[in-house]
Amino acid sequence: MTPTPPVPRPDALPGAGAAAAAGAAVGTVSTGSTGDPHSDRYAARTAGMTASEIRALFAVASRPEVVSLAGGMPNLAALPLDSLAREVGGLIAAEGQSALQYGSAQGVPVLREQIGEVMAFEAGSTSATGGFAPDDVVVTVGSQSALDMLTRLFVDPGDVVLAESPSYVGALGSFAAYQAEVRHVAMDDDGLVPAALEEALQRLAAEGRRAKFLYTVPNFHNPVGVSLAAERRPEIVETCRRHGVLIVEDNPYGLLGFDGQTYPSLRSLDPDNVVYLGSFSKIFASGLRVGWALAPHGIKDKLVLAAESATLCPPAFTQLVVSRYLATHDWRSLVKSFREMYRERCDAMLGALEVHLPEGCRWTRPRGGFFVWATVPEGVDTRAMLPRAITARVAYASGTGFHADGSGARHMRLSFCYPPPERITEGVRRLAGVLEGELEV
Ligand code: PMP
Repeated sequence: MTPTPPVPRPDALPGAGAAAAAGAAVGTVSTGSTGDPHSDRYAARTAGMTASEIRALFAVASRPEVVSLAGGMPNLAALPLDSLAREVGGLIAAEGQSALQYGSAQGVPVLREQIGEVMAFEAGSTSATGGFAPDDVVVTVGSQSALDMLTRLFVDPGDVVLAESPSYVGALGSFAAYQAEVRHVAMDDDGLVPAALEEALQRLAAEGRRAKFLYTVPNFHNPVGVSLAAERRPEIVETCRRHGVLIVEDNPYGLLGFDGQTYPSLRSLDPDNVVYLGSFSKIFASGLRVGWALAPHGIKDKLVLAAESATLCPPAFTQLVVSRYLATHDWRSLVKSFREMYRERCDAMLGALEVHLPEGCRWTRPRGGFFVWATVPEGVDTRAMLPRAITARVAYASGTGFHADGSGARHMRLSFCYPPPERITEGVRRLAGVLEGELEV
């Protein structure tokens, strides 16, 4: 099995006591030396549950003097809070009996219908989504819970999951929690490389093994920022079908292309072999924790059972808040204004990187989403550098958190989603200063 990435050393970061505590709260498992009297009782699978590097960074990076290019928090400044407050009040007054009651494990029917409109907005029409029926949708507590449930459904300890290199840290967390062996597949500026996928699958076949699924973020990838080229999509889908491997298509950023550009979903190319995950976190409100899975029938039924055993049902209240928002607000215009805001921030970051970063650094040039992926010169270790960056009042996410084996130290993820443009510019200037220092040593 791929070794579990070493637990980050949040204590190595200046002022990181609270960060360490935050890490502990999300599942650090005591090894005994911490004095946890329960340490010999935990299930074996908890050994793979480690605090995410990013969450461990959170408390330090959110200090006001630090420019945080580390987190992936959506910017909610454009949300119409006053009218939302009225809608939420109206919801309780008019529908409180159902909004505050248990509901269906599959999700509130009216929201499942509306999810079709959201997917059609991205794809152009519902037929371009690969067909849509509200009964194929399972509403989830963010797409994170869909990732957790899918892994629970498909992965026995030691089973192989394929994922891009690098990959979304929260997905890696779910895979580790179920003791999956993650095999990373190379990406380039056009996303997942089809030949690398074929090679990984052939290698597995030669070992007499088969991957349970391919996990991929084809649009405005987290953490790399690139999208899977349209011409590669049919080949990826065909390769997975030929090798009998399911695809989990995770698409939280698909509506956030700066020019409104969209790509055919993998699901539209092979609806029977793709589970599609969507989320309201980046296009509305991450704190409501509402996402969805659109799955082939059998998998949908199993997801409903998994949801029942995990939470009985997703909260009716938050689902109905999303539903009211979609029904009463011009959410499409709001999505367009989000695109504008993120484009401006991305431009600020790309401009500042060009001006300030020392020679030998490279970075991606995203056309949507939240993230730039930077590569630093040989000899620089972004994980080891992080405490010095925090001292210089800038934070980023080291590339090591995005690889199941803890590699990736020559990379870092720089988020442009949250700080305003002038702070981004200042953050990159500080980061460049830290990098210059590393290169002088
Ligand atoms: N997938 C990806 C690629 C993400 O970036 C995120 C959030 N950062 C998620 C899933 C989880 O999102 P949600 O808030 O819907 O759980």
